[in-house]
Amino acid sequence: EALRARVREAIRSVPDFPKEGILFRDITPVLADAELFRAASALHHSHVADLAEQVDVIVGMESRGFLFGPILAQQLGAAFVPARKPGKLPAATVEERYALEYGENALQMHADAFAEGARVLVVDDLLATGGTAAATGRLIERLGGTVLAYLFLIELDFLNGREVLGGARVEAVLHF
Ligand code: 5GP
Repeated sequence: EALRARVREAIRSVPDFPKEGILFRDITPVLADAELFRAASALHHSHVADLAEQVDVIVGMESRGFLFGPILAQQLGAAFVPARKPGKLPAATVEERYALEYGENALQMHADAFAEGARVLVVDDLLATGGTAAATGRLIERLGGTVLAYLFLIELDFLNGREVLGGARVEAVLHF
């Protein structure tokens, strides 16, 4: 728990990024310190260790879900599948649109990303309004997967993002 506090202290808060009024939580100082990055990965794992036998696939969202998702996938012995911004994935895709805390976007996954019935853990750096995670959950369900849980390094509690995730299990290492 001392390490959890150190990871928390390392997160840099940047006012008015990317827009006025947004206090952006910057995780790059955690990545830049090998011990803290390892601690963050261990904490991620500890939040979902009970699912180790069940998880088939980790889905990580572009871009910062790509930083934490693959490490967790290796820890759990699961596949890693990226959910990407439009136009990036080369083969046939499915797409879901969503509203961000700032702006609007869409995410795509390969239509053949995993087998029907796959049990999936969704990983991203931060849960804000929940729009990104909810869109990812919809993509996974359209592909015949089941979301076991959503896992974040940071949850912004005041935005109530978990409420748009339909009562799914939501885990976060740190709460702001
Ligand atoms: P949501 O869709 O939940 O409103 O926004 C979450 C998405 O936006 C995540 O993919 C996350 O990476 C990004 N995001 C929004 N606000 C922040 C922030 O303060 N810090 C970081 N690191 N990412 C953010």
